[in-house]
Amino acid sequence: MTNLGSLSRQGKSLATVIAASGSFLIGMLLPMEIWTNQETTTKATTVKTATNTKPINQSANNKETPLEVIKISSVVAKKINNTKQKLRELELKTFNFSVPKRFQSQTVKDVTLNSKQKVISLTFDDGPWNNTTEQILDILKKHNIRATFFVVGQHLNVRQEIGKKIVEEGHVIANHTWNHPSKSSKMSSDRIKSEIGRTADLIYKITGRTTNLFRPPGGVLVNGLADYAKERKHTVVLWSADSVDWYYRSAQKITKKVLNKASNGGIVLLHDGGGPRGHVVEALPNIIAGLKKQGYEFVTIPELLTIKDRELHQEELAKKTESKKQETNAQTNKEQANKE
Ligand SMILES: [Zn+2]
Repeated sequence: MTNLGSLSRQGKSLATVIAASGSFLIGMLLPMEIWTNQETTTKATTVKTATNTKPINQSANNKETPLEVIKISSVVAKKINNTKQKLRELELKTFNFSVPKRFQSQTVKDVTLNSKQKVISLTFDDGPWNNTTEQILDILKKHNIRATFFVVGQHLNVRQEIGKKIVEEGHVIANHTWNHPSKSSKMSSDRIKSEIGRTADLIYKITGRTTNLFRPPGGVLVNGLADYAKERKHTVVLWSADSVDWYYRSAQKITKKVLNKASNGGIVLLHDGGGPRGHVVEALPNIIAGLKKQGYEFVTIPELLTIKDRELHQEELAKKTESKKQETNAQTNKEQANKE
């Protein structure tokens, strides 16, 4: 007989290591998993566990009977894998779409980052589109990159499965109106509400996500759409690196455009839909390779804004500390002068 008490402890210490090195969610899930595992093992092999009244045989023979060890180890390994998978699913479910408060009701076209860590945000507009959106998703998956997709409501409506896939693969889905109106002339308030509201409702219905990112078609800020989005506390997201992929149909040209305009905290504008975008699919691996070569990491728009928010918070803290220090110094000098 093997020493199951020790095995159980091994399982638990393994759980502790994983819980410590990973997310607290593993910590929450794993003990539960191992408990289930113990129960399963008990039923399957009629091996006695610590919960049984019969004492476990701890004879010296345990070295000669490693079968249970192998069995239980493999079950534990399987359970750990399942737990990792569940964790990944949970992460995706709770993936943060929210925007820091200071960026709500603001227009953003890039954020200047002071950190040495170079980050950039890829954004894709006007989809979901047949073929191209999924081809782009595959490229992003291959490179483990998360991006932001500004979808057009009427396109999402007829390609709901692709919209769902965007979110399931860890990307951010955001609002780009229902009909893509890009004229500068003022629109009626009913139309504005419907353009944004209808798309937001559909995004929620399909993905369960509430987005608070809005990109006005054509980057037009004066027709009332952007103002209404800001009223709804949305962040109006423009871009700093236009690939001009809607004009140039050449993969080389748009790659060059993006790489020349890349900046730390920059937002890249690309299109996965709204027309034939084969040249975007063709260019994307080169764009990614070129940006990586320049030292960039890829983040979504909410992640980009969160990084900037943290930077600003640190700067504010440093300023507060500095002014407190100066205050204390002035007080000390005053006291010194009084003594003299
Ligand atoms: Zn657009």
